[in-house]
Amino acid sequence: MSAPSQHIVCTHCNATNRLPVERVQDAPKCGKCGQGLLTGQVQELTDMNIAKVTQKNDVLTIVDFWASWCQPCLIMAPQFKEAASQMPTVVFAKLQTDRYEQAAAPFNIRSLPTMVAFRGGQAIGRQSGALSAAQIMQWVRSLPA
Ligand SMILES: [Zn+2]
Repeated sequence: MSAPSQHIVCTHCNATNRLPVERVQDAPKCGKCGQGLLTGQVQELTDMNIAKVTQKNDVLTIVDFWASWCQPCLIMAPQFKEAASQMPTVVFAKLQTDRYEQAAAPFNIRSLPTMVAFRGGQAIGRQSGALSAAQIMQWVRSLPA
């Protein structure tokens, strides 16, 4: 058996990286473009990469589905950002559903904001409504390992 590794998609260049598990804590960079893969910053997804990120990432990935007209979404945005900075080994990403309507459609988002958690190509949790950073982190920690 080879050393355990996890796939993680670079949201900058779309390359799928194989990351040895022991390097997850180590601010890993993309092997193709050199951008950070786990930076503690919220990554903006588009119609070009959301399918790949949600299907390929073995690393826990939280996607915030939001819209520019949605007040609770705008209220939650800085809280989501704060949670991302506190949990740098988790991928925090967001998709603007009023800009990328087609890309959001397969996820059956019925209310905004909705966060969906993905791991290994599976949606493993879903949470709707604006939460505080502490509530977001509590939800992320409660997800099945
Ligand atoms: Zn890259």
